[in-house]
Amino acid sequence: MQPEALFGMALGIVPPWEVTEVSFSKESNRLDITIDFKRGATFDCPICGAPAPAYDTTDKSWRHLNFFQYEAYLHARVPRVKCPNEGCGVKQIQVPWARAGSGFTLLFEALVMTMARDLPVNVMARLFSVTDTRLWRVINVYVEQARSKEDHSGVKRIGIDETSVKKGHNYATFFFDLDERKLLFGTEGKDNETVKEFVADLKQHGGEPEHVTDVAIDMSKAFIKGVKEQLPNAVTTFDKFHLIQLMNDAMGKIRAEEARQFPEVLKKSRFLFLKNPENLSAEELERLDTMVANHCHKSVEAYTHKLNLQNVYYAENRQEAELLLTQWHRKASNSAISLIQKMARTVKDHWHGILSHFDSTLTTGFLEGINSLIQAAKARARGYRNPRNLICMAYLIAGKLRFNALLAQPT
Ligand SMILES: [Zn+2]
Repeated sequence: MQPEALFGMALGIVPPWEVTEVSFSKESNRLDITIDFKRGATFDCPICGAPAPAYDTTDKSWRHLNFFQYEAYLHARVPRVKCPNEGCGVKQIQVPWARAGSGFTLLFEALVMTMARDLPVNVMARLFSVTDTRLWRVINVYVEQARSKEDHSGVKRIGIDETSVKKGHNYATFFFDLDERKLLFGTEGKDNETVKEFVADLKQHGGEPEHVTDVAIDMSKAFIKGVKEQLPNAVTTFDKFHLIQLMNDAMGKIRAEEARQFPEVLKKSRFLFLKNPENLSAEELERLDTMVANHCHKSVEAYTHKLNLQNVYYAENRQEAELLLTQWHRKASNSAISLIQKMARTVKDHWHGILSHFDSTLTTGFLEGINSLIQAAKARARGYRNPRNLICMAYLIAGKLRFNALLAQPT
């Protein structure tokens, strides 16, 4: 058997196509495979399926899977056909080994999609010696294709979270299905318009905004407004994760402020205050004692408020939680530290939404997990952090999309 025929079989090339030339260059690290068709061959008309002869051709090339360490390329003249049925006219045919308009073979794209789940795109780009822009284009196409088939008709409980794309600049907002534990929608920005865009997308996928019963959000005014306007039957819950994060931010500022006064006692203590007492080492507990003894009262007081606020979430029911939150609020609003007073006001302003946590039984474990999913998408999108690519990667990691049809395609 000739090597051309062997490659034809390996690539799954079927008539009228055949492999006509295989050239291998050690110097340029390439394997070039030419595919062609015989004079007079016919192709199925893309409109009616009747056998149609070539009318004219265009030369095209596709990057294929590496052959060991060698980059492999397919080349072919791709015909337009002239159908014997008058109505069809002259039409471009599709080659069976590649997607229309792509410079990669389907197998190469399938590999990209498989690897993209585990490897950052810029690493893949280096590995294959192609630009990451080209890889992003492939990933975007398949993600969009898979998303278009998604059914969101059962969506009832959602969680919304935003993240910065570049520090302090662009933002992206993500909408998760809390029951299916998957990303439903991501969009640029973090204003109330994002909720409107989500609702439009939900409808496009067969969902009903009126069927959404619960929404978990942080305490941002934009989301509160957006949810009120767009999801009329949803009960808003301010999720635990964001509330504790807000408390931690206040505590961090208080500690940093006090560290200027007591640099020796408080140096490198940031992580100590983020831990719970039961996780502190003997050494750290001793440090905490030293802080109290050395009048670092504000930091230690802030730490106590944080622990007490966390404690609210150990309540067995809403009634008990409300009791604990009332106690917390009384102490916090009597604090001499203005940032703690401010925190107390924030809690008061969002009272019902905070306590809804105990009615709605939203899967809070997953809510905290959302953040790590987004962080994973950020890491995977590294080096090309525009919002579109980040959102695309988030769909790939957290969208539970089905790419089976793509991966089953023969070359
Ligand atoms: Zn036709």
